[in-house]
Amino acid sequence: MQRPKVAIFSTGGTIVSSAASSTQLTNYAIRDFTPEALLASVPSISDVAEIEIVPVANIPSSCIDEATWVKLARAIDAALARDEVAGAVVTHGTDTMEETAYFLNLVLETRKPVVLTGSMRPSSALSADGPLNLLNAVRVAACPGAADRGILITLNGVINAARSTMKSNSISVETFRAPEYGALGFVVGDEVEFVTRVEKPHTAETEFSPDDFSSGAPRVDIVLAHAGDDGLFVRAAVEAGAEGIVHAGCGHGTISKKMEAALFDAASKGVVVVRASRTPTGPVLRSLDRWSDAGFIPAGTLSPQKARVLLQLALAKYPGDAAEVARIFRTY
Ligand code: ASP
Repeated sequence: MQRPKVAIFSTGGTIVSSAASSTQLTNYAIRDFTPEALLASVPSISDVAEIEIVPVANIPSSCIDEATWVKLARAIDAALARDEVAGAVVTHGTDTMEETAYFLNLVLETRKPVVLTGSMRPSSALSADGPLNLLNAVRVAACPGAADRGILITLNGVINAARSTMKSNSISVETFRAPEYGALGFVVGDEVEFVTRVEKPHTAETEFSPDDFSSGAPRVDIVLAHAGDDGLFVRAAVEAGAEGIVHAGCGHGTISKKMEAALFDAASKGVVVVRASRTPTGPVLRSLDRWSDAGFIPAGTLSPQKARVLLQLALAKYPGDAAEVARIFRTY
């Protein structure tokens, strides 16, 4: 029987990490466990798809940067432009998986399935979750019904959407959740089922491409609100050359008086300010007139780290143009 071809793009993470013993579940590292060894640990994958492995990086995902995103996006677009490749899987550390997934969701040209997966337990662990996560991700990537749904994240049998999903637990295998919007579907055994879809434009429907970062990504810093904050990090970001600042405010994106003064000052120098929230659920919408009058843009339902990705792409395309950035935040 002809099997679909799935390309696996490896970037590192816990799924290819190992520790000294099978009960060591933290403080592991990427050593000599390769993507090929991971694949060999799940022989039944060959019943589902013909696989080709494309190495992109071999790093913990806390070290992912914009250059790696661009390299990954270009590699995926090139592979999926080939008729014989049905879908893509990206193996990735879970720590920043949601940011890479959202970047790909905004820049990839393809409508074929692209699925990010990883693991919470290292390959050496008792009950390591990587092998089943990889098999499930390949099943989803090989499934025609997974096409044109935007970039997907599949761990622990749950299929989530890049835009709405966050890492919600620092150690549990059930970590990726979309608390307000729910999962898109599930994969159990050989069944892949979708129950809902995403409304926001993604992949081939967006105005973005990996080329938007071809001369480097604009500097955008995230500043977290906290009791006693005084705007120091906003001033430091401006001095470091930030073109944009995402303020992860309290509750509905609120801003302390001292922070407000620093952000007004930043905005007056042409830095585009986005108001997000450190509170994980609920939107940040238009609020006080003085913030809107200063050009602060509400992040809507994007987390601070996803708002940063969108702000970088928006500024790369429309440098310093707060009106275009505001339109982009309303759209994506
Ligand atoms: N440290 C890991 C990473 O690369 C965590 C993981 O993959 O689960 O993000």
